[in-house]
Amino acid sequence: MQPLLMIPGPIEVSPAVREAAATAPPSHTAPGLIEAFGASLGAMRSIWRAPEGAQPFVLAGSGTLAMEMAATNLVEPGQSVLVVHHGYFGARMADMLSRRGARVRTLATDPGHAVPADQVDAELSEEPAVAVFVTHVDTSTGVRADVAGIAAMAKAHGAMVVVDGVCSTVGEVLDQARLDVDVFLTASQKAVGAPPGLALLVASPLALQARSRLLTPPPMSLDFEQWIPIMEAYEQRRPSYFATPATSLVLALRAALTEIEDHHHAGHTGVEAAWVQHAQVAQGMRAAWQALGCSLLPATEEVAANTLSALRYPEGVGPELVAAVGRRGVAVAGGLLPQLKQAYFRVGHMGWVTRQPELLERTVRAIGEALVECGHATDPEAGVAALRG
Ligand SMILES: *Cc1c(COP(=O)(O)O)cnc(C)c1O
Repeated sequence: MQPLLMIPGPIEVSPAVREAAATAPPSHTAPGLIEAFGASLGAMRSIWRAPEGAQPFVLAGSGTLAMEMAATNLVEPGQSVLVVHHGYFGARMADMLSRRGARVRTLATDPGHAVPADQVDAELSEEPAVAVFVTHVDTSTGVRADVAGIAAMAKAHGAMVVVDGVCSTVGEVLDQARLDVDVFLTASQKAVGAPPGLALLVASPLALQARSRLLTPPPMSLDFEQWIPIMEAYEQRRPSYFATPATSLVLALRAALTEIEDHHHAGHTGVEAAWVQHAQVAQGMRAAWQALGCSLLPATEEVAANTLSALRYPEGVGPELVAAVGRRGVAVAGGLLPQLKQAYFRVGHMGWVTRQPELLERTVRAIGEALVECGHATDPEAGVAALRG
């Protein structure tokens, strides 16, 4: 049997999403596919809080493809960009922009800390940039960036803002219109709650203009201008073709986005309910880790993400813990930052599982028991009790 997937993506999906993905693959012109595609684009506008005139895109591909789409449609060779870097995925973004031929500057901190927004101000005062790229939650460290502060500084200097929300969209508060974010991107398999395979991106009018001014166009399969007519057609419920969409996954995406839009929690509805629920679950999980004697890699609770926990192994325990948890039917992830790989592990808590308290309890119990097996004196049931609050 497949273990319970508590890694930071891909995640467990709901029964409705599973069912939607399991139907016979429709053609790209089938009425049901057109409806699901159009409805998904519309749902993205509301879940992203997209600004007026923004364009949502759904492409076959992973989060990395969405990052590449942002990098190549907004920036061209020779332009200056700033990457606010909190770990593994920030480094990937910088590498990608270098390959595009951009002049890349990075702002980083020690693992576990968040870059203060005023450093962005100082950096851009020294030399302007056409765009500032920031990872909302860097999945390698479990740190949440101060996107609101960074976006405000970037905008004050006339730079576009790109937010890699692969590990945050739906799980962390982000209102694209209010923060004036130009590209807010994610992938289907994280807090959105669908299987892997779709790159999801919403571009602001300014981002679309930036593409139209490029002298060096992006690769054809990533080009906003190739895909805009396709997305417009589907949103108007017309068939269209440029390159075959991942039709089965679009059906699953529609089911996942509908669940988000219809969700109610603690007096909130839609994505707001998801934001609140992810924050509450994260707080419960952090209480459980504390009861089990595991400390966070993020330096403070304030910068700790709501979508995953990055946890230091307690004294005397190492990466063998991940396998010990696995033997209990729960999959968690090892460390991802090369320099700290042996020192910490990661537990995802996003999407459907945030609405399944018994699965969260099962995860805490499995980790508690595995810690005991690995020689750390703790009480798994104290962890479960802390989670329940
Ligand atoms: C997972 C992740 C990515 C990469 O997404 P893939 O779907 O694996 O390509 C990029 N950025 C962040 C923050 C992520 O968590």
